[in-house]
Amino acid sequence: MQDQAKLALENTKFTPFWLDNPDRPAAEAHLTTAITTDLLIVGSGFTGLWTAVQAKEQNPDRAIVVIEANTAAIGASGRPGAILSTSLMHGMENSNRLFKNDMEELERLGKENMDQFRDTIEKYNIDCDIEWTGELTVAVGKHGIDDIEGEHELYVKFGHDAHLLDKKQIQAEINSPFFEGGLWSKKRSGTIHPAKMAWGLKRVAKDLGVVFYENTPMLTSKTRGQQVFINTPEGSITANKVILATNAFTKHKKKISTRVAAIRDRIVMTEPLTEEQLAELGWKNRQGIYDTRTQLNYMRLTKDNRVLFGGRLGYFFDNDTDPEHDKTPEPFIKLVGMLYKTLPALKDIKISHAWSGPIALTTRMAVHYQYYHGGKMIYAGGYSGFGVTASRFASRVALAIVDDVDIPERNLEFAKTVPAWIPPEPFRWIGAKITMYALDTCDAKGGWRIPWLTLVDKMGFPLKP
Ligand SMILES: Cc1cc2nc3c(=O)[nH]c(=O)nc-3n(C[C@H](O)[C@H](O)[C@H](O)COP(=O)(O)OP(=O)(O)OC[C@H]3O[C@@H](n4cnc5c(N)ncnc54)[C@H](O)[C@@H]3O)c2cc1C
Repeated sequence: MQDQAKLALENTKFTPFWLDNPDRPAAEAHLTTAITTDLLIVGSGFTGLWTAVQAKEQNPDRAIVVIEANTAAIGASGRPGAILSTSLMHGMENSNRLFKNDMEELERLGKENMDQFRDTIEKYNIDCDIEWTGELTVAVGKHGIDDIEGEHELYVKFGHDAHLLDKKQIQAEINSPFFEGGLWSKKRSGTIHPAKMAWGLKRVAKDLGVVFYENTPMLTSKTRGQQVFINTPEGSITANKVILATNAFTKHKKKISTRVAAIRDRIVMTEPLTEEQLAELGWKNRQGIYDTRTQLNYMRLTKDNRVLFGGRLGYFFDNDTDPEHDKTPEPFIKLVGMLYKTLPALKDIKISHAWSGPIALTTRMAVHYQYYHGGKMIYAGGYSGFGVTASRFASRVALAIVDDVDIPERNLEFAKTVPAWIPPEPFRWIGAKITMYALDTCDAKGGWRIPWLTLVDKMGFPLKP
């Protein structure tokens, strides 16, 4: 299997498939002067872009500037599996684990958020290959069946159109020897082309009057009177309010990393499938799929019928987010092996693209807010790999916080509290390495891995060995 995986990776581009697109917009100019603005947004991924669009929709006259260290969607937003979900807090189970008392309201807000996400795409004609095919959780092994049955109860309780599938029914949806059953939530979920979505939001924000500077990292920030003063390499910004939409990137504000670990997740993308491969695979309903393995894998089809297969974690010392670390075949060999085992219909298929992306992991696995400069600057992030649609909601709440507008969402637990502290280096790196090794080998070997993963689970990271 290893040799076959190496062969499949021989002509691979180690860059995100989503960004390898002739329609990628040209970079904006970088900032070379001293400017002032009412609202400054730092970071041009989904959080920054949704903040910009919603802030202008609320108040068209407001002066808004976005600065981005690189170009739009270069972070997690141009790299995800991009399976859409209504959940605002990293899935139904996680939400129920953390915010039981707020579940009713979070579920209502999640559905409302998805409807408004859809309305924005339609209103502004954003071309983003969206497919409303639903999300499907597939059970691997006996404990996978228990997982989906528990989750199904929650889906039904909170009014989702969700259906349990037995082994025969799941095999009719997708041909895999691993899948024992499934839970298909049919409405308000599916898949999207994330980079096209982000570029579309950027176009909308620009049309509404937002000013963008790219290749313009924020270096430092300090309070200056009633405002915040930001330094960039060749310019500066004085802003009344600032939103840090920088998610897993923590170099500019080390304090963020006391709650956020920049974990890598890896993805491989196949060449487009032939008609025969597609027929053998089944997958006619084209759902976004997650499985229930300890080291979760997820998969989906693209518009041109490639299979995206993801889910192999990594960590680099000191929250390093540099994508250059994942530009060789080695980190992807096991993932390709898992793809072949999971979907044997693709046994010889070549990998066109492979990449990693930074996930802002927290013990709550969902967005939280941190405060700087007397609340004039706030950080909004920590989606832990589940933020394509949640970022729209999170940025709406971020705006209300920074503008001190009293909306009911601010009284929910997630907005008032922060996730647990995460140990600094070198303990973080050592812990991450042992955990990733344990995750990798737990299902096959068990042993010490189970108590270790249980301990990590007890620390707040839900690993469920
Ligand atoms: C491999 C992978 C798979 C995923 N799959 C899914 C999925 O299937 N479904 C789902 O819902 N979510 C998924 N996610 C998560 C989702 O992509 C993220 O939650 C979401 O994109 C976060 O958006 P963001 O804008 O907060 O962060 P980012 O997109 O990371 O944006 C942060 C931006 O800030 C910029 N920046 C950083 N520092 C500075 C600075 N000092 N100055 C200026 N700019 C700065 C960065 O360059 C970057 O562009 C996945 C993520 C990854 C990595």
